[in-house]
Amino acid sequence: MRFFPLFPSFGFDLVLASHSAPVLDSNEQSEMFSFLKELVQTPSFSAQEQDVAKLIIKHLRSNGIKNVHLDPAGNVIARIGNGNGPTLLYDAHMDTVYPSGGGWSYEAHAVAEEDGVLYGLGACDMKGSIAAFVYAAKQLIQDKTALHGNLILVFVVQEEPCEGYALKYILEEQGIQPDWVVLGEPSNLNIMRGHRGRVLFKVTVQGKSSHAASPELGDNAITAAARLIFGIELLAAELPTDPSLGPGTIAVTEIESRSASIHAVPHTCGFYIDRRLTLGETITRAQAQIESVIRREGIDATVEIVNHQITTYTGHEFSVHEAFRAWSVEENHPLIQTIEAVIRSAIGHSPKVGHWPFSTDGVYSMGEAEIPTIGFGPGDPRCAHTADEHIRLDDVVKATQVYASLAATLLSKSSD
Ligand SMILES: [Zn+2]
Repeated sequence: MRFFPLFPSFGFDLVLASHSAPVLDSNEQSEMFSFLKELVQTPSFSAQEQDVAKLIIKHLRSNGIKNVHLDPAGNVIARIGNGNGPTLLYDAHMDTVYPSGGGWSYEAHAVAEEDGVLYGLGACDMKGSIAAFVYAAKQLIQDKTALHGNLILVFVVQEEPCEGYALKYILEEQGIQPDWVVLGEPSNLNIMRGHRGRVLFKVTVQGKSSHAASPELGDNAITAAARLIFGIELLAAELPTDPSLGPGTIAVTEIESRSASIHAVPHTCGFYIDRRLTLGETITRAQAQIESVIRREGIDATVEIVNHQITTYTGHEFSVHEAFRAWSVEENHPLIQTIEAVIRSAIGHSPKVGHWPFSTDGVYSMGEAEIPTIGFGPGDPRCAHTADEHIRLDDVVKATQVYASLAATLLSKSSD
């Protein structure tokens, strides 16, 4: 693991005294809840985020945030602050997955509220954070909080199918170099400092076709694939474990085969492997492990990392390479100490520090660009991608308070 300085270019001392931001009054809270409900009622499946993007832009502007724009990929980017100091970036994705099949007691986009809990698709993952980011910025502007540096809010497209790509595009296209990134993915108001990496492999087995009545004349690609899959499953027991991130895992998730007919021996069979990498594992080594099974079994097969193209709602294309390494920020990193102090003073909560079970835009910001990245958001991570997805409205208010106070704290000194 590496050490990442908290203030690489500004030489500040460790852990600043936390600066509190004003609390949302009850009118502002109900305004924020209406915005959140509207976000949930507006479908934004991956590649269909345009209506939610418009809604976010409208609310940013009506809340006094002037520097707002839509980039060519369809991401929304807003900036506040005087530019004279470091850059703090808040990241949220606008897209949602499709509602999980069955189990919903409510219409996914209808929005139901019961006992201070809001139900609806995307409420937790992660429209609650979108609302909290927008109202944190509003609070800071309304209060005329001096922000020495930049607070950049990004609302990205297509995080669900290709985490990291839209964020990478924004930073490279806009020439933004954040000093810190905060991901608003649900964390139950705790601090997340990383997660495992992931790779999607495709194994293609070549066989030889023959009439199914004479299988001895062919070379059955499904049978050969079955031998490989068995060998690959055995790898699971050998994968290393990290004390905080847990073990690397391997799972065959989909299989397909081709044959001239249902009465012919299949000549090809392909299957996909979802491989989660823990700290210390590399993408190259993960591929080599599969190659060694293929060699040991003496089967004519190849393994490759899956690449595909994704088109955003504006027509922009991302070439996605499905390989991301694990990342983890040190537990005592100054950024973690700072947000811990802010959470305690802003909302009186003692947060736990942990890791997410799922993958996020951190695969780019920390995994690739090595920008100190942490996660903090309202909502229970276990709610994401499940039926009756929901969020406690009070947690959205608390997250707003933390986001505003963290920006006020990290951007409290000028670089002069
Ligand atoms: Zn998410």
